[in-house]
Order: sequence, then structure tokens, then C-alpha cells
Amino acid sequence: MSAAPRTLLTTLCGAVRSRGGLAHSPRPRTAPANALQIRSLASAVEAAAPGKGWTREEVQQVYDSPLMELIFRAASVHRLNHPPDQVQLCTLLNIKTGGCSEDCKYCAQSSRYADQVGLKAEKLTDVETVLAEARKAKANGSTRFCMGAAWRDMNGRKRGFERILKMVEGVRAMDMEVCTTLGMLSPEQAQQLKQAGLTAYNHNLDTSREFYPSVITTRKYDERLETIEAVRAAGLSVCSGGIVGLGEKDGDRVGLIYEMSQLPEPPESFPVNALVAIKGTPLEGNQQVTIQELLRTIATARIVLPTSIIRFAAGRIEYSETEQAMAFMAGANAIFTGERMLTTPTSGWDEDHAMLGRWGLKGMGSFESTTVRMKENQSALEATEARKAGSGDQASAAQAEVSA
Ligand code: SF4
Repeated sequence: MSAAPRTLLTTLCGAVRSRGGLAHSPRPRTAPANALQIRSLASAVEAAAPGKGWTREEVQQVYDSPLMELIFRAASVHRLNHPPDQVQLCTLLNIKTGGCSEDCKYCAQSSRYADQVGLKAEKLTDVETVLAEARKAKANGSTRFCMGAAWRDMNGRKRGFERILKMVEGVRAMDMEVCTTLGMLSPEQAQQLKQAGLTAYNHNLDTSREFYPSVITTRKYDERLETIEAVRAAGLSVCSGGIVGLGEKDGDRVGLIYEMSQLPEPPESFPVNALVAIKGTPLEGNQQVTIQELLRTIATARIVLPTSIIRFAAGRIEYSETEQAMAFMAGANAIFTGERMLTTPTSGWDEDHAMLGRWGLKGMGSFESTTVRMKENQSALEATEARKAGSGDQASAAQAEVSA
């Protein structure tokens, strides 16, 4: 553990104790107001210090600390920055499958491995089919709907891009957070997506700068950073994370988290994917990462990126329910749920609602994350809140119908 963060946490705990929020205070608790004050105080302190001051060595020290201590510290940071009982349910739909010209070694959608994988390329899905999927996701409790297209970029795809803008408008009109992952993006395209109502754009860095060329050769690390910059300049939330199990070392996981901490603003969302080794891809023989490695990655990210939503993404269902619960304890606060996750399986809504319930957790509403809200247009947010309030009864009825 680095000296600075330890001091920070000690100071913070002192502040919390002096407010009667922790341990054996003789003063009566006034929970809601105090908890909020404590959370925002802690949030300010944690967000201000580590985001600016982390060195790679410090991140490595955090990652290498004894695992139970690491998880305890991450859980403490988590509670100071996020409602600890909430996990966001997200649904990811593939709107254009396969035929991608990139060579990401883990991906079944690259045209280079199509014959070995046996995946047929498909055309861009039509708007109504996508909106029907989004409605289903919302009715089942998902509050973020993500759409992925297997492309290097959007150049020369004017009509396809216009169709995607309609999809974004339609999903946003359902008062869901809406995210897309469409490859590299120009500043103008990022602006158009923002105007259509996009909440966030996903573009993963995948791994450390040094290990990256062993996984992808057709797109440079800096090109990825340029897309993230275009997304930021458009006022969108950034969703950017990585994959564990690519054959990287611990230091590469640290390198990825360190890169995120060096961005001008940390990403609002940091997905952690555990590689699902797909037959026919160059990484088909890779071993699944151990739960300890995965927990170290999540907990370190939680400490270094205290305000980000950490999404336990692909590969989640390869871990037992208890292991997933440990990931929530370590700071993960979003999962992907539904029928599929791009080309890999996920568990369904009913199963995930039941699992969260068994651990005293519940779904997070749309636009509840403070950092995501801050990027949103105020009038659009107010319209969303008004619609939510007006349709509360119908929404509950729909939910009850789905659950029945
Ligand atoms: S990960 Fe994305 S960019 Fe890479 S091959 Fe797959 S679809 Fe293409």
C-alpha cells in the first residue's frame, strides 16, 4: 500500500468517526443525512487525491497487498463513493455481428478467424428489432442498454451510422442509459451520438501499453486513446476497461489501471472482462484467470478509480455465485445480464435478480451514478425524471408481470 493513500484512508476514517458514522460512537446516528455527508466528503477526498497522484509503483503496491486487506480497503472505498447495496444491470446487444477487419486475438468476430470459429458475418440489425430488445431489457430491470457493432470504425458507413443514431434516440426515449461500442470514432461522430442522446461510449484499452501489441496489431494504443479523447470532448461518459486472461502478467493489469488513472478524467465506467477462450481464436487455449487474480484487479481498480462504476463483464458466469459476491465486495457494481453478451453467454435476468437478492443487493436505477449524471444535459435529465415519475405505476406493473 502506498504511503499517500494509507494516510488518506486514516484521515478519512478519523473524519468519519468524528461525525459519529463509524465504530463505537456514543452519539446517536442520524443515518441518511450523515451518510450522505460522509459519502460526499469521502468521495471528494478519494477522487481528488488518487486520480492525480498515482504512480505505477503505487498501483502495483496496492495490487500486491495481502488479498483480504486489499478487498477490505476496496470495500471501504466503495462504500464511501457508491451506494453499497446497488449493482447496475446492463444488457449488451450485438447489432452487427462478425466480419471485423481488426485482429484482436481474443475475438470471435474478427474476419481473420471466421473460418476456424465458424461465425457468419451479419448485416446491421434494423431499428425496430433493436428497440424491441431494449424494451425487453428495461421490462426485466436493466437500466443501461449497450449496442455493439463489429467494425474498425464508422468511416464510409453513413447510412448505417444514421440508423444507429435512430437506435440511440429510441433507447434514450425509454429513459435508459444508452451506450454504444462501434470502434474508432471521429470527433464529429462523437458529437452526433451525444446529440442523439447517447450516455456513454465504450472503447476499451484492453491491457497495458506494453502487452497490447501481443494482442492487437491492426490498431494502436494511441489510436484508442484518441477515440477516448473524442468521446470526452463531445461531453459523453467514457466506458473503458480491459480483459484479464489474455496471457498478461500481473504488471499488465496494473499497467491498464494506471493508464486509466492518468487520463485527464477517469472513465465513468471501467469494465473488467475475464477472457472467455473461444475455440478458433488464437487465444483458445488460454486458462481462465483465478478468482484471486480477478479480485485483485477489481479491488485495485476500485481503489485507484474510486468514482468509476466497475462492470464485471464477460466471463462472469464462469465463476461461482460466492466468487461473484466477493467481486461485489471488492467493488464491482455493475453486471451484464440478459440473453447473451455479444458472442459469449451470460446469465439471465431472473437468475441475476435472484442472486442479487440472496446477497442483499438490488438493481441501480438509470442515471443514478453521480459522475454519469454530471455529463448529462440537465433538461434531458429532468424530462427523464418527469417521465419516470409519471410512468412509475405502469413500470411497476410491467415489472410485476415479468416477474410473475
Ligand atoms: S474486439 Fe471489436 S475491433 Fe476487435 S476484432 Fe472484435 S469486433 Fe473487431
